[in-house]
Amino acid sequence: MVVDLLGMSAASIASAVRRKEVSPVEVAEAFLGRIRAFDGRVRALLFVDEEGVLRRARELEARVARGEAEGLLLGVPVVVKDNICTKGIPTTCGSRILEGWRPPYDATVVEMLLAEGALIVGKANMDEFAMGSSTEYSAFGPTRNPHDLARVPGGSSGGSAAAVASLFCPISLGSDTGGSIRQPAAFCGVYGLKPTYGVVSRYGLVAFASSLDQIGPFARFAEDLCLAMRAIGREDPRDSTSIRRGRPRFDGLSPRPLKGLRVGLVREISDFRLDEAVESALEGAIRRLEGEGASFVEVSLPHLEHALPCYYIVAPAEASSNLARYDGVRYGPSADAPSVEDLFRTVRGRGFGAEVKRRIMIGTFVLSSGYYDAYYLTAQKARTLVASDFDRAFSACDLILMPTSPTLPFRFGERTSDPISMYLSDVFTIPVNLAGICGLSFNAGYSGEGLPVGLQLIGGWGRDDLLLEVALSLEELFGVPRPAPLGGELS
Ligand code: GLN
Repeated sequence: MVVDLLGMSAASIASAVRRKEVSPVEVAEAFLGRIRAFDGRVRALLFVDEEGVLRRARELEARVARGEAEGLLLGVPVVVKDNICTKGIPTTCGSRILEGWRPPYDATVVEMLLAEGALIVGKANMDEFAMGSSTEYSAFGPTRNPHDLARVPGGSSGGSAAAVASLFCPISLGSDTGGSIRQPAAFCGVYGLKPTYGVVSRYGLVAFASSLDQIGPFARFAEDLCLAMRAIGREDPRDSTSIRRGRPRFDGLSPRPLKGLRVGLVREISDFRLDEAVESALEGAIRRLEGEGASFVEVSLPHLEHALPCYYIVAPAEASSNLARYDGVRYGPSADAPSVEDLFRTVRGRGFGAEVKRRIMIGTFVLSSGYYDAYYLTAQKARTLVASDFDRAFSACDLILMPTSPTLPFRFGERTSDPISMYLSDVFTIPVNLAGICGLSFNAGYSGEGLPVGLQLIGGWGRDDLLLEVALSLEELFGVPRPAPLGGELS
């Protein structure tokens, strides 16, 4: 008899289902019950597909009974961010402009999850079009940090991170353009992986900044992060940027001995102000890793300070182009208007929130003739410099360790009036996207007030497998992160 379904890893749920110790319907009901009990407070989910999940769980149950069901994620509830297309299920990107839109197809990652027997429970809240670091820019209201309901869960994939921390599902998917998986993972005290650009298919991910966007998983157990990557870290001919040669392999991952691991510490981190709890978590992690035989080397990322301004030119430029498709004709709500121009103005004026409009304006400006060379081209050059900094650093170390975010989860409203302070949330995550490499946030402990503190491991191009193997070892050292203290029985 399974006592604690909610606290179990996805890996153990799937094997319990396979061995018929628990039925997919029981699993679905347990997690749906948990969502019903607590999501009113957390608000991680924009849509819960109760009917669909139960229908699919019953089908699975019949297949398991016949001995026909197979899959890595058999009966495992998974939540996906609301910018990932789910056939027939609302996909809003946290925006009014897509309210009521139901995609006619599944994203490749969703197809892959379903093929492995996963149950897609619902869609996670997010900052509108993934622009933000707190979910406060969702048109449907913010998600709360389940560790402290007065604070933000991070963003933009705040709903996905909060869902895992609240035990609404053992695995969720988010997207990371400049930190949107790693920063909320840190804030909610769970694992989050931003894979190397091209490892996971972007087909069916609503585009924000196409040269930076990447889908990745959240989980409370390192082995579940590995499992999720086995399911979705595959080549996709429908994504022209999907890696064909030299992609990392995710089967057969095992804890990597920390002895002999060369870990880089970035000299320039000392130029930034860190919250005390973040600083001491970093120091504590260094001591622990040293105790296990890892060695530390100082590396330099001399262009680190340029990464943030560079990102805030490249990402809005791409966004302004990608968001041109929301014209009130093809998607979402339309409007009565006397002319085409009026239609665009009305629909876009009403449909987009202030942050999205700000990005469109910045993006349009930096791409406009006369400014293109001064801003966009210069930013592209800076991007190359950031990437070559990492190349140089990785000649001296296997991985880099640094904070995920300079601060602990902040309170609602603290940063909404000052966009730059919000943008600063991602100073340490953005360089990874610019370079197209991989980064993982893990929970390294808690502050005095019980807030999770995350640290980031950065790997070179295609070293996602190494990151995961190290995460498996770190879990032995740091323990499995606590579920958020929402109360209620685990059953
Ligand atoms: N917070 C960053 C932004 O607002 C990153 C967002 C993301 O990774 N999607 O652009």
